[in-house]
Amino acid sequence: MTAIESVESFRSRARAWLAGNMPRLADAAPPSTEGDEDEQRWRRARELQKKLYAGGFAGICFPEEYGGLGLTPAHQQVFNEESDGYELPVVLNIPSFSICAATLLDMGSEEQKRERIGAAIRGEEVMCQLLSEPSGGSDLAGVITRAERDGDNWILNGAKCWSSSAYAADWGLCLARTNWDVPKHQGLTMFLVPTKAPGVKMNRVRMSDGSAEFCEEFFDDVVLPASAVVGEVDDGWSVASRQLFHERNSMGGGSPYISGGRYAPATRQMTPLDIARATDRAGDPRVREMIGRFLAMEKVSEQTVGRVSRAMATGALPPTAASILRLLHAESNEMAADIAVKIAGSGAATGAGADQGIGGQAGLRFLVRQGGSLGGGSTEMARNVISERVLGMPRELALDRDVPFKQVKRGR
Ligand SMILES: Cc1cc2nc3c(=O)[nH]c(=O)nc-3n(C[C@H](O)[C@H](O)[C@H](O)COP(=O)(O)OP(=O)(O)OC[C@H]3O[C@@H](n4cnc5c(N)ncnc54)[C@H](O)[C@@H]3O)c2cc1C
Repeated sequence: MTAIESVESFRSRARAWLAGNMPRLADAAPPSTEGDEDEQRWRRARELQKKLYAGGFAGICFPEEYGGLGLTPAHQQVFNEESDGYELPVVLNIPSFSICAATLLDMGSEEQKRERIGAAIRGEEVMCQLLSEPSGGSDLAGVITRAERDGDNWILNGAKCWSSSAYAADWGLCLARTNWDVPKHQGLTMFLVPTKAPGVKMNRVRMSDGSAEFCEEFFDDVVLPASAVVGEVDDGWSVASRQLFHERNSMGGGSPYISGGRYAPATRQMTPLDIARATDRAGDPRVREMIGRFLAMEKVSEQTVGRVSRAMATGALPPTAASILRLLHAESNEMAADIAVKIAGSGAATGAGADQGIGGQAGLRFLVRQGGSLGGGSTEMARNVISERVLGMPRELALDRDVPFKQVKRGR
């Protein structure tokens, strides 16, 4: 076995390679006015990922046999530090790498790992999550999208919604019901679904901030081969649980599969401190107090992410503790959005959008502030998981827990 490169040697190589090969954010060309701006962003991300792969800096924590570098979270951390200020394909981080590829790595077949993870690392493919349904996302084990056997194949029918960036994806991890005669957690199967397969209809959903990242999908007799099953038939809940772990870990900032930061730079720059400086209010004692609260929260988040991630890695805390990170992320995100609007004042209300200066950006962000406490499972569900699965408090009453799913009463 060859010894792995030291973290400091990796840092020096990454620094030199980034300087010679990746574009600086400050020099990034504005999106062309021709064609769909979102599609350009995703095309650009794939190009940048191909560059990272060619340079030997893609898939840092994924195993070598699946196209990664097989290095440690410490190597990923120094790469993240060195890549600050460069244009990187950060839209690929969540959900493609840190949730979908990570779940396949833990639960997928050899073929799925080799083909899908490899293609994602090479910048050829993107993955998305097809979990939530129009009937509700919190009760994930209650999904009613169905897959029925047809010889060696499966036939998928149903609908999913709120799928982030599914329009840009090639594959989706889709949870479907395959057995209605057993209690709800026992009759589910996870499938890898090609998003462009015959019978898949996808619409993009426009949000109040103008973005159209969410999609809804309708499956109408979509034929899937047996090799589309991830994990075991009727054991999709194990796969979904692992996927939820990776999602909460990613949202909370603890995933080692995130390269170069979680967010696009425009979002990252929107700190209350930036807004105070830009609006010339950094000297106002009330504003300073709010910034102090924000900075304290940032410190607490940083330390908690480190502490909980380490504890989960050593087994001192169960994987469900990722909900602590997920909850903290939602709370700090909401706090930052609220403080930003308070500091920006009337500029946040009257600025019409990102092109209306920093006040308008604070206003836009406020419109979707609630997203952080819904994506990756709601804040209420995170609190339930922490109390029941981490602290060992009594479980919530569930009348449908041991009942065959076909007998469970559902809304019309
Ligand atoms: C930014 C973002 C990205 C997302 N990306 C994806 C994605 O890529 N793929 C995907 O499949 N989904 C995605 N979602 C959907 C997300 O998973 C759901 O919004 C979430 O699970 C909640 O489901 P729901 O919106 O249907 O609300 P519901 O399940 O209808 O819940 C409504 C409200 O009731 C509360 N509630 C429900 N049950 C309980 C309970 N037992 N105890 C206490 N309170 C409860 C909830 O907390 C919530 O406030 C995304 C959502 C957001 C905001």
